[in-house]
Amino acid sequence: MSTTASAVWNNCLSFIEDNIQPQAFKTWFLPIVPLKISDKVLNIEVPSKFFYEWLEEHYVKLLKTALQKELGEDARLVYSIRMENRFGNKSPFTENIPSSNRSGMLPQQVDAPYHSQTDLKNPFIIPGIKNLQIESQLNPNYSFENFLEGDSNRLGRSAALAVAAKPGGTSFNPLLIFGGVGLGKTHLAHAIGVEIKEKYQDKTVLYIAAEKFTQQYIEAVKKNTRNDFIHFYQLLDVLIIDDVQFLSGKTGTQDVFFHIFNHLHQNGKQVILTSDKAPVDMQDIEQRLLSRFKWGLSAELQLPNYETRISILKNKLYRDGVEIEDDIIEYVAKNIKTNVRELEGAIISLIAQSSFNKAEITIDLAKEVVMKFVKNTKREVSIDYIQKVVSDYFQMDVQTLQSKTRRRHIVQARQLAMYFAKKYTKASLASIGNQIGKRDHATVLHACKTVDNLSFTDKQFRKYVEDLSQKLSL
Ligand code: ADP
Ligand code: MG
Repeated sequence: MSTTASAVWNNCLSFIEDNIQPQAFKTWFLPIVPLKISDKVLNIEVPSKFFYEWLEEHYVKLLKTALQKELGEDARLVYSIRMENRFGNKSPFTENIPSSNRSGMLPQQVDAPYHSQTDLKNPFIIPGIKNLQIESQLNPNYSFENFLEGDSNRLGRSAALAVAAKPGGTSFNPLLIFGGVGLGKTHLAHAIGVEIKEKYQDKTVLYIAAEKFTQQYIEAVKKNTRNDFIHFYQLLDVLIIDDVQFLSGKTGTQDVFFHIFNHLHQNGKQVILTSDKAPVDMQDIEQRLLSRFKWGLSAELQLPNYETRISILKNKLYRDGVEIEDDIIEYVAKNIKTNVRELEGAIISLIAQSSFNKAEITIDLAKEVVMKFVKNTKREVSIDYIQKVVSDYFQMDVQTLQSKTRRRHIVQARQLAMYFAKKYTKASLASIGNQIGKRDHATVLHACKTVDNLSFTDKQFRKYVEDLSQKLSL
């Protein structure tokens, strides 16, 4: 391996790593070996043909960008595929395939940070121009067609379809889609935009993450262009803001959003919002804004049931052109229940593993992969999620759980939430206390000890702990 090839490749890798999810990076990029470089052509070795096809299908644009950054416009990529020689000759033989380097193709997995690359060029150049030309920032892969229907999402999906058919013309304005992590909020929000763009080409649609919106606003304030910022957003026909819970506590951004929202709403323009919480559970969002959120429809995306998980998996495999035995699909669907993103992640890593080791996809391999996924995700439980699970279990809402009341069953629920927050997250006692009803660290410590004691002495209480552990470690 020449040193320049590996130097170039290492730079590419760090760019790529910044732009995709860690799991995908590990699976698809770490196994690649840079072989040589000559005259702006980088030759990389991949473990199998499947690997090469996957890269071409999903990551060609990213690879291209990375390589062009390193080698300039006319950079090219050539794959070598490592193949086993089945007739005893130990030295591998390789097959060279030049990368198609197709341009203008979006990678299928547009991870959030990748989006920031295809940023709004300049949101402020617009005023005065009649035919507003802006990039909608929509991901065409997140279509309705690819969004499988199930009991868990029927309401949200139908409302989204209605809005896409008549943006601004239904009572679903705003449409708020809410639900837990990885349940399809972002997908559905894009699908609405994609469909509107298809039906009404002249409508200006913008998808933006609330975090990005906030950054833009802060920039605008710094540059003294707050009015241009507002003006730009008020010109849209359809505004899609993802993860509005991010606006919590950001009063300046909430204020400006309030004005934009009112303007759009009064003019019959469509607003679509997503959030990881229902409006009642959103904290540090101004009341006047919350009440606006409730004007239209709030539709919850729930955990998909087993049948829906199966059809999501099958659809994904079908689209990727991969075949896997039913019992393996069923195994994955049975064991990964809380999050569609992880469901897809598990399948992808299963395919990758089998391709990498040139092994068949067997139940044992599936078990291994699923175990890793389930283990990894345990650590990702959030304090919000714990509070939700505990309050659901005791049939109270999160506000009650956090309240100052000393009623015994509420105190117990609160203590259990603190105990599990300590057990399942890395948060400090102080931060746990702060998030669970603004208590101090001593209260949390006391709660943890109480739960420990009670689960020894009180049978009923031990059952609570066991039930909740199970719910939280799914
Ligand atoms: P959220 O924004 O709620 O965290 P996403 O919209 O990012 O979740 O969805 C996570 C992944 O799961 C995406 O790849 C998405 O395409 C997929 N997904 C979620 N729900 C469905 C569904 N009903 N059908 C097909 N794919 C889905
Ligand atoms: Mg999302």
